[in-house]
Amino acid sequence: MLGKILVGLGIAGFFLGVIEAQSAFQGSHKQIEAGLLILGCPVIALIGLLLWRRDGKKCPHCAERVKRQAIRCKHCGSELKPG
Ligand SMILES: [Zn+2]
Repeated sequence: MLGKILVGLGIAGFFLGVIEAQSAFQGSHKQIEAGLLILGCPVIALIGLLLWRRDGKKCPHCAERVKRQAIRCKHCGSELKPG
């Protein structure tokens, strides 16, 4: 859950940075702020993506992604090892 939020924040922040960079004057502190957003937000999105991936596991029977806590695959109905 946290992963999805971080990915969303990262992408939103990146575009905010791009928009801000276009409206900022050369050398202004707003431009530095925009640069930080453009550089920092992809990192946040990447961390979020890693957390998001960690949130699930792959079903060994059908290779679909299911929740980590699941004991039965929602795609093929196979029994899964908890954890
Ligand atoms: Zn399955």
